Amino acid sequence: MSVTYHDEHRQFRDLARSFVASRIADRHESWEQSGRLAASMFTDAGAHGLLGFPVPEEFGGPGVDDFRYHAIVVDEVARVGAAAAAIAFSLQNDVVLPYLTDLTTAEQKARWLPGVVSGETVLGIAMTEPGTGSDLAGIATTAVRDGDHYVVNGAKTFISNGQNGTLFVVAVRTGADRHKGLSLLVVDADTPGFDRGRNLDKIGLHAQDTSELAFTDMRVPVANRLGEEGDGFYHLVRNLPQERLSLSVGAVAAAEGVFAATREYVAQRRAFGSPIGSFQNTQFVMAELATELDLARTFLDDCLAQHVEGELTAARAAKLKWWTTELQVRTADRCLQLHGGYGYMREYPVSRAFVDARIQTIYGGTTEIMKTIIAKDLGL
Ligand SMILES: Cc1cc2nc3c(=O)[nH]c(=O)nc-3n(C[C@H](O)[C@H](O)[C@H](O)COP(=O)(O)OP(=O)(O)OC[C@H]3O[C@@H](n4cnc5c(N)ncnc54)[C@H](O)[C@@H]3O)c2cc1C
Repeated sequence: MSVTYHDEHRQFRDLARSFVASRIADRHESWEQSGRLAASMFTDAGAHGLLGFPVPEEFGGPGVDDFRYHAIVVDEVARVGAAAAAIAFSLQNDVVLPYLTDLTTAEQKARWLPGVVSGETVLGIAMTEPGTGSDLAGIATTAVRDGDHYVVNGAKTFISNGQNGTLFVVAVRTGADRHKGLSLLVVDADTPGFDRGRNLDKIGLHAQDTSELAFTDMRVPVANRLGEEGDGFYHLVRNLPQERLSLSVGAVAAAEGVFAATREYVAQRRAFGSPIGSFQNTQFVMAELATELDLARTFLDDCLAQHVEGELTAARAAKLKWWTTELQVRTADRCLQLHGGYGYMREYPVSRAFVDARIQTIYGGTTEIMKTIIAKDLGL
């Protein structure tokens, strides 16, 4: 199986590519300096029709439930090395939006979806806490029912879009059972008791505002709960294959992008009187990477085709996620080596690709957690 793109997808790709060239590529460095994406990037993207594809027309969206459009956006953004922006698109369209389209009442949809499509609402998801990451069932943030509100207390960390975000899906503990005691609340960042902590100082993804969040006696209306109380863990797990697929789309595109730039570099850089691309080691490294990228693209397109048909399993998404993100890290590392000292300079995109890639094997479920999912599927 391989994913098929039609004329309307190709036209959309042209639009996304020109948006990335004119609105993202040149600005990304300044966003790296300021530690966050400009909020205008989201409204710009909304105005160009790059957000909220499956949102029904009555709630301001195009009502197109076709993941290929999601994949095209992340692919085009990640390919130019704008990793922080790719994460933001991934969150807005692929990771958080499904909670708001699939688990909401008509009243909730009317409140939340129009802003997501226009980009005035920036989405985030807050699962990880200082004491728990891989082990989602260890979430300790409490939500205690008080009339028609929940009173929420606790802390989250490593939350992407933590500074820019205006609406967060927050995983909270409403009961003692490790799994059946979790629920999901949608929290407006303006809610009293919601505090943004530090914009964390990371080794890469400098334009991504990854932050701590703290909740102190924060009163969230029961009307902001997603689905039933106690179903939170099930909802989180259900959406993970699409989240992991989205990360893999970014991983393969970023790796292809850095490979293309390296191919040009080794053709023009000379040593010992010859282009470094004429050395057998360079040729072998490039040949190996070209082969692995071909495998990754084929595997990814196959998984995309399955997802479009609603058939991508959690185990297959886990295989794709760990393998493509590890390949992205390896590709950036080997390409940096071929750049010599210049590869270590921030002005060369390969240096950014190297530090930005490193997180990909950790968030969205670590490589080790992906392997536990696969092993379980193998009956082990
Ligand atoms: C830049 C960035 C952005 C992020 N964005 C978000 C976000 O938007 N929202 C959010 O909720 N979270 C986010 N995260 C958090 C991320 O998802 C977690 O960091 C990740 O899930 C790992 O959790 P942890 O850091 O607690 O590591 P731990 O769970 O403590 O893991 C530490 C190590 O132990 C290994 N390990 C753990 N359990 C097992 C096991 N059963 N078997 C084998 N090995 C195991 C892990 O693989 C890892 O190598 C982000 C993190 C970063 C750094």
